[in-house]
Amino acid sequence: MKEITANEFEQEVLKGGKVLLDFYSTECPPCEALFPKLESLEKLFVHDIKFMKIFRQGNRDLADKLGVKGSPTLLFFENGEEVCSRLSGGIKRKEIIRDLRHLMDKKQIDSIMNSVKPTVTHTDVAILGAGPGGLTAGLYLCQAKIDTTLIDIALPGGNVSTTHMVSNYPGFIDPQPGYMLSHNMSEQTKKCGTVYKVAVDVTKVDLLKKEIIIDEFETIKAKKIIIATGTSPNRLGIPGELEFKGQGISYCATCDAKYFVDKEVVVIGGGNSAIEEADFISKFASRITIVHQFDKLQANKLAQEKAFNNPKISFMFEHEPRAFQKDGDKMLVEIEDLKTKEMKTLRSDGIFVFIGLKPNLELFGKALELDQWGYIKTNEDMQTNVEGVYAVGDVGSKKYRQITTAIADGTIAAIAITKEID
Ligand SMILES: Cc1cc2nc3c(=O)[nH]c(=O)nc-3n(C[C@H](O)[C@H](O)[C@H](O)COP(=O)(O)OP(=O)(O)OC[C@H]3O[C@@H](n4cnc5c(N)ncnc54)[C@H](O)[C@@H]3O)c2cc1C
Repeated sequence: MKEITANEFEQEVLKGGKVLLDFYSTECPPCEALFPKLESLEKLFVHDIKFMKIFRQGNRDLADKLGVKGSPTLLFFENGEEVCSRLSGGIKRKEIIRDLRHLMDKKQIDSIMNSVKPTVTHTDVAILGAGPGGLTAGLYLCQAKIDTTLIDIALPGGNVSTTHMVSNYPGFIDPQPGYMLSHNMSEQTKKCGTVYKVAVDVTKVDLLKKEIIIDEFETIKAKKIIIATGTSPNRLGIPGELEFKGQGISYCATCDAKYFVDKEVVVIGGGNSAIEEADFISKFASRITIVHQFDKLQANKLAQEKAFNNPKISFMFEHEPRAFQKDGDKMLVEIEDLKTKEMKTLRSDGIFVFIGLKPNLELFGKALELDQWGYIKTNEDMQTNVEGVYAVGDVGSKKYRQITTAIADGTIAAIAITKEID
């Protein structure tokens, strides 16, 4: 994929015909997951559309001028005009293909997509999700010489890769950058010989038949499936949230905090993630206002102490966001004072939302038995109610969701499966 700079923008993009432009950042897992998707689509659409990327940090003025406020952001141009709304965050391959219709005739797109020949591969164990749980299961299975395929919609690493520093993972004296910890876990599992199919779209999963379709044309048939799909950030579900996601509203501090040097930021939430990430954002931003619905924080005591002693951070307790708006470059959030019912408007340069997580289960239909909070029930071997299907890590029903508990689950499932397959 061709890389351009701001100086080439006019020539390459505005005068470039049909162009798909990816604003990316470094240390941005969703950006890295997007590259292979764009590169594979570029091969298919090479005669019709130009695929280009531009480094957001190195071309900030252009990014600001175009109102690009999240990484990655994908823009679609035809003859110098932007032709549809932008894609940002964890962008799916099928969303890009869907939006290509703004640049090309649908029949033409279908004909190119239909030229891709379907394939079928067989594996002993298919693991869905390459976070700590899935990677550990992959490592143990691979070391037991069991043919294993690890599938992820993003690059390996899971939530650890977007955590700034991890201080409670045993074996390291000093806190470790999350992306390094997850990188090492992934390399260890890969080196053993586990097959990786990552940064793909998981199109369909049939737990009963043990079949997984990826990128619409590749079917993977397995004897066992391990679900290790973890969790995703909860959305507030209020007006303006979807509209301004990636354009002022972010769910990933490691991806976007660096763009808020000397800027004012609002953080929504009061649990561990919100308070630890606010501390990280304060390395860049000049002022952070934490808006929290309760009268005290839910984060652990150490994180709370750090936040209360951070001169850049102030708190609005018992306030809840009701809507987001934009005023030029500024983000506006309307918040309600839960005690007085008074509405207030906070003005800032950007908003980070950390209000808890939900299990990633959308693809599994109704076959799985869930607990009252919607997490997958398992027995002590991590087996679900569906024969041959296991669940490990944060997606499973449990009291404590940590890296160590996810890798413990992965270990147990892999050993149980090894015994069964033997
Ligand atoms: C901001 C933050 C900070 C944290 N800090 C710490 C900490 O300091 N210490 C600690 O111990 N824990 C911490 N945690 C918790 C820790 O990250 C999790 O407990 C751990 O990552 C769980 O691992 P997992 O493998 O179950 O899931 P995840 O890490 O969530 O990984 C799930 C993987 O599944 C993939 N996936 C999702 N849907 C699909 C699908 N349909 N098909 C295929 N793949 C899919 C995802 O892309 C992802 O790679 C933190 C969490 C967050 C959010």
